[in-house]
Amino acid sequence: MRLLLVEDEPAVREPLRRTLEQAGYAVDEAADGRAAWQLGGVEPYDAILLDLGLPVLDGLTVLQRWRAEGVKTPVLILTARDQWHEKVAGIDAGADDYLAKPFHSEELLARVRALIRRAQGLASPVLTCGPLRLDTRAGRVTCNGEPVTLTSHEYKVLAYLMHRPGTVVSRAELTEHLYAQDFDRDSNTVEVFVARLRRKLPAALIETVRGLGYRLAAA
Ligand code: CA
Repeated sequence: MRLLLVEDEPAVREPLRRTLEQAGYAVDEAADGRAAWQLGGVEPYDAILLDLGLPVLDGLTVLQRWRAEGVKTPVLILTARDQWHEKVAGIDAGADDYLAKPFHSEELLARVRALIRRAQGLASPVLTCGPLRLDTRAGRVTCNGEPVTLTSHEYKVLAYLMHRPGTVVSRAELTEHLYAQDFDRDSNTVEVFVARLRRKLPAALIETVRGLGYRLAAA
């Protein structure tokens, strides 16, 4: 899953980025409203974390522009504490959730997980597909109740597919959602991770749809 983190203060942004990356997200950063607006309008993020007090363009304006342009990416706004009117204005402008600073990273991560699964119509943090069970909170996978040990990249591929059961996902889409913008991408690596997943899981679970991509077989 790939996130856009919009925050102008490096002292806030840097530790947040590390927290998100440690949790397995690919993270792009923007330090002002214009950069955020441009990135959020073209890159396929799974969620956006948006500070409201930003230079060049304020966060509310950025959010209003995205929504006016049809950008449907889930947005979590980061507000100043006790600024209840910011929360109201943010939600009215199209935010999906808010978090008041300062916050615990566990709460931030829980809200990001919830935004991503709700965007796919999923209610539970535990995703299931046939014998597979993926707990997004703990980052753990079991198959028929047995733990499956995955590398972080294998986990990211499987998690992306499990958020979209029965949907064909192209290699390009997987690549775009696994890596940050500045990462040296090679779509062949996705094939390698899928091949490894197939060796660790029932082989028929991840179908290849010729010319289109991969699909997690709905049970
Ligand atoms: Ca700020």
